[in-house]
Amino acid sequence: MNPNFLQTPIAYLKGVGPNRADVLKAELGIETYRDLLHLFPNRYLDRTSYYKINQLQPSGADVQVVGKIIHLKMVEQKRGKRLVATFVDETGQMELVWFRGHKWIKENLKINEPYVVFGRVSQYGSTFSMPHPEMELLHHHQQGLKIAMQPIYPSTEKLSAKGITNKVVSKMVQQLFLESRGLFPESLSPTILDELRLISKTEALLNIHFPKNQELLARAQFRLKFEELFFVQMQLISKKMLRKQKIKGLPFENVGENFTTFFQNHLPFELTEAQKRVIKEIRNDLGSNAQMNRLLQGDVGSGKTIVALMCMLLAIDNGFQACLMAPTEILATQHYNGLKELLGQMDIKIALLTGSTKKSERTLLHNQLENGNLNILVGTHAVLEDKVQFKNLGLAIVDEQHRFGVAQRSKLWHKNDTPPHILVMTATPIPRTLAMSLYGDLDVSVIDELPPGRKPVTTVHRFDNNRLKVFGFLKDEIKKGRQVYIVYPLIQESEAMDYKDLMDGYESIARDFPQPEYQISIVHGQMKAADKDYEMERFVKGETHIMVATTVIEVGVNVPNASVMIIESAERFGLSQLHQLRGRVGRGAEQSFCILMTGHKLSEDAKTRLQTMTSTNDGFEIAEVDLKLRGPGDLMGTQQSGLLALKIADIVKDNQILQTARYHAIQLLKNDPRLEKEENAPVLRAFTKMMANKTIWNYIS
Ligand code: ADP
Ligand code: MG
Repeated sequence: MNPNFLQTPIAYLKGVGPNRADVLKAELGIETYRDLLHLFPNRYLDRTSYYKINQLQPSGADVQVVGKIIHLKMVEQKRGKRLVATFVDETGQMELVWFRGHKWIKENLKINEPYVVFGRVSQYGSTFSMPHPEMELLHHHQQGLKIAMQPIYPSTEKLSAKGITNKVVSKMVQQLFLESRGLFPESLSPTILDELRLISKTEALLNIHFPKNQELLARAQFRLKFEELFFVQMQLISKKMLRKQKIKGLPFENVGENFTTFFQNHLPFELTEAQKRVIKEIRNDLGSNAQMNRLLQGDVGSGKTIVALMCMLLAIDNGFQACLMAPTEILATQHYNGLKELLGQMDIKIALLTGSTKKSERTLLHNQLENGNLNILVGTHAVLEDKVQFKNLGLAIVDEQHRFGVAQRSKLWHKNDTPPHILVMTATPIPRTLAMSLYGDLDVSVIDELPPGRKPVTTVHRFDNNRLKVFGFLKDEIKKGRQVYIVYPLIQESEAMDYKDLMDGYESIARDFPQPEYQISIVHGQMKAADKDYEMERFVKGETHIMVATTVIEVGVNVPNASVMIIESAERFGLSQLHQLRGRVGRGAEQSFCILMTGHKLSEDAKTRLQTMTSTNDGFEIAEVDLKLRGPGDLMGTQQSGLLALKIADIVKDNQILQTARYHAIQLLKNDPRLEKEENAPVLRAFTKMMANKTIWNYIS
């Protein structure tokens, strides 16, 4: 095959031409032969055999089954009715389901007569069901099986309107196979093909488009999913290896006075085992010659701040400066105050830089940073501004990473001639699977233990009409000396409405909790920073009992005396947000509560979210559910990575394959870091192309 064959513009393929080429590009992004080759079918119609009910698989293919209807019934559901038929053959029974057209079906279907039904099966519990099947009486059914399974390609309304039907797309792909003689270069090494018993590239591409049978289809899918994930991992792992080799890190060889003094005299509590382990991991990085790029994961309240501080002391002991960045002004301020308190009498110069730092202060601060008089800078995004120059920044810590982009991370790199060590801290537990794909180039440390004595937060779901009872409960808690958060959603698209809800809510709370017995603070995004700080401060000091807020308080705020978190319209929040909010309570010794308020109308997803929240406090478990509900695309900045634009693999469902792919990528790069071995030539060729192009499938063949 001509090496440039797959680069050929799609218009040149017989049966396409310039007009269709335009539509293919606009609707499916197909510009070349290669793009068409990697347009994988969504599903398949399998008329190659008749399946028995006990052979059915939830495979995504449409299949045909011979049997009889023995029973028809109407089932009432919330949204309309459905007609359900019990369909049996000699091996078992399944359901046929109709959501519309009931009258016609009831009048025309024959009970106890043999039918051939054809459709997509899905599984509910142990029962298979086939919605809206094609039905044909067996004696009308044309015998004689089709030889091939029929692929169904992704489509759009425009495509069909322009006459590019599934049949036409399928013809185009056939034409492509004809012109290429169906031969495509291998991209995996013989060792990997052998060890995993993978089918060849050529066979895989043929069977993904024109499967001979279910088994070969499954093997083609496996091979292509593996390949896709393998090359993503190759990219991440080689990037990490390269960085470790090429970029010399600032050596932090001393464990000096500040670290030791703090550890011996100022540590306000015993570190948890997890905190000790993580500090050790970080110290190892800092002491080696490589530059550190580490992600520190730890659930809300697991004690990341103290770890950050001790690492910054290490930097200072080695003659470097350190900075700590937080996503909001409130949080940066809180960090600043917290660190100052922890450092107590120690001789460490620390300063705060945010958007509202005054100009005169700023100038002073810039000078102190440049001449090295300042040891630690705490701040918001303001720290990233070009004007902010350090004398010798040795360690940059970013808190609550999901609000920061990759671009910002790289800005930090350039704050020094030699890039500083970077520690990214996040309270959003990222499922392992996702961490591997997304942050595969970072090292990961996990604090998987909460400080002792924490009582798990009790979480309940209450409907809006129980509000009076909930308020009664709040009054009891306040009487005991506790404080309460009441949080309202605030979403950009519905901002005006949301503010109205917040203000209405505030008024009704003010009515039910009258002054002077009760003091209420309110904090939201439209307030001036100074007013926000003032209200926050009053709540922190215990001067107010109730904090009414939008999600401003989501991240990081620490008020141990607050024991109740009420989340209004909880159905509108995502799981990780709910978990973050709940993390604001349960920080003191008292039993804490999280009350999720909703109306009665709830979507299935919302129900799952609420149910998850009331049944577990484990951030990782919650993150897994979140990933399943939302898919990886939505989760914390994954869009930026572009790596997750996967064509055939699915990070959630293909977790096993991902792990296998990662393992093989690591092995291969360990044994042959430069891909010089003869047997790795196919991998090298594909990989080189990949680094030149950006999208994954543009390089693999
Ligand atoms: P996060 O990981 O959410 O940033 P913080 O660092 O804010 O958590 O810590 C939460 C609270 O737990 C703080 O009040 C902190 O002082 C306390 N804390 C942290 N580590 C320990 C520990 N080992 N023992 C007791 N309390 C701790
Ligand atoms: Mg924190």
